[in-house]
Amino acid sequence: MSARKEGIDSLIKSPSTTLFEEQKLLVNKLKQDNLLSKEEFLTLLKQSSEEISEYLFSLAREVRQKIYGNSVYIRGLIEFTNFCKNDCFYCGIRKSNANAERYRLLEDEILSACEIGYELGFRTYVLQGGEDGYYKDDFICNLISRIKRDYSDCAITLSIGERSYDSYLSYYQAGADRYLLRHETASEEHYQKLHPSNLTLSNRKRCLWDLKSIGYQVGSGFMVGSPYQKPENLIEDLLFLHELQPHMVGIGPFIPHKDTPFASESAGTLELTLYLIGILRLMFPNALLPSTTALGTIHPLGREKGILAGANVVMPNLSPREVRSKYMLYDNKICTGDEAAECRFCMERRMNKIGYEIAVDRGDYKGGKCYV
Ligand code: SF4
Repeated sequence: MSARKEGIDSLIKSPSTTLFEEQKLLVNKLKQDNLLSKEEFLTLLKQSSEEISEYLFSLAREVRQKIYGNSVYIRGLIEFTNFCKNDCFYCGIRKSNANAERYRLLEDEILSACEIGYELGFRTYVLQGGEDGYYKDDFICNLISRIKRDYSDCAITLSIGERSYDSYLSYYQAGADRYLLRHETASEEHYQKLHPSNLTLSNRKRCLWDLKSIGYQVGSGFMVGSPYQKPENLIEDLLFLHELQPHMVGIGPFIPHKDTPFASESAGTLELTLYLIGILRLMFPNALLPSTTALGTIHPLGREKGILAGANVVMPNLSPREVRSKYMLYDNKICTGDEAAECRFCMERRMNKIGYEIAVDRGDYKGGKCYV
């Protein structure tokens, strides 16, 4: 055992040690090693305070500053279909929700959103949708090729759920660069409480490993404060992410949707979500961490706070305004009435106010280990 670790252990065991001192040492250790044991993570998570959160965020900002400076990357989110064959219990566009007003964008509508996005300085398009069998692989591949042909300096991120290895490979070969697929929870038992029995954690993980092996920049993540979630589940999430070593990690508070089985569940908190963003930044110094729309939904300054906790990506909406309010994964989602340009410039003002700059850049993962 190293002298430093012995120091931590004896301090943790000392009855006179305050929880803050104990947690501060663990935050330092996390910054140094990018990992803690289950017990140590539990000590960090069991009782957070404003004091330890501020300390964590200051280190998280230091780490992100060293690698990404003051840049905040923007992703243009195009939600092209809200049809989905799945029935996840937490999701507002689940197939059983008869109140969802369904839509699909045509190829020209998607390309027109790309054109508007390019003028606004977006250099990454995120094509997101439910698991909608209407769009066959040929359609997706042609769409990717067309976007790449017209905007060769842009990255394409797909977020279209669980597919076969061959489908993932064909999208990659057509030019897709990145893929987002949150694992949602890394606990088998918890997974089954959030999803119907035809959806399994093992298949979700299989998809993530397939995506990595093909060569995508891979994003995963989880909901904070989802129904039945225990602190131990969050630790399983962190340990799974450590194993996966994704390039991007997206987390956001669970927010209930009125037409789902979880309609009356409580939302996840801003504080815990921010705290976990800080932890993730220290675990993954080089990662692309979005400050999500869900954070902005539970607090008017949620996205700014996410950046100040260590995030470095925001995803303004590029979907046509007519369909935005129909892509309602949870209640009260913000920015559903704004034009793309309004969202883009609103985000710029928000970032400038807290001392950050929006980058006109693909915003790729910056690899390598960070020695701060
Ligand atoms: S979470 Fe995704 S897969 Fe599940 S119902 Fe919603 S859109 Fe479909």
